[in-house]
This record gives sequence, structure tokens and C-alpha cells, in this order.
Amino acid sequence: MDASTAAPERTCVCCGQKGTKESLIRVTLGPRGPEVSPAGPGRGAYLHQACTGELSVRGLARALRSGLDPGEIARLRTDIEGKR
Ligand SMILES: [Zn+2]
Repeated sequence: MDASTAAPERTCVCCGQKGTKESLIRVTLGPRGPEVSPAGPGRGAYLHQACTGELSVRGLARALRSGLDPGEIARLRTDIEGKR
């Protein structure tokens, strides 16, 4: 398979392992803070659903290049867990 047509790989911001785009949850920085956004605009961070509990403020803030506070992370975690 041509590398340009292979499924794009993304790196989980929690565990650092790679996975296909489909196996990871995409998070972007929205007007309310970080939010689950499979196809929205902006810089995206990716994480495994199973890694949500390990999500750190620092890891996500670095991936999104933005300051975050723990309350925003807690809300994001609830959003992701609510989609199970
Ligand atoms: Zn992970």
C-alpha cells in the first residue's frame, strides 16, 4: 500500500502509543475549553478512550498548546465517559 493512502496514525497524549485515527478520540480546544470533536477545526489531540482516566492536564495542554485547568480536564473526561 502506498504510504500516502495508509490509515493515518495518531499518538495518544496519555500513553504515547500510536493508533489509527479511528481508534483514538479527537479533542480540540473549543470556546468552552477542550471538547470531543471528531471533525472540528483547530489543533487536535488524540487519546484512547481507555486512557481517559489517565488524562493529565499537562499532557493535554502540551498537545493543544494551551493552558488548561483541572476543572476543564474533569469536564472533558465526563464528556468522553458519557459517550460510552
Ligand atoms: Zn493511550
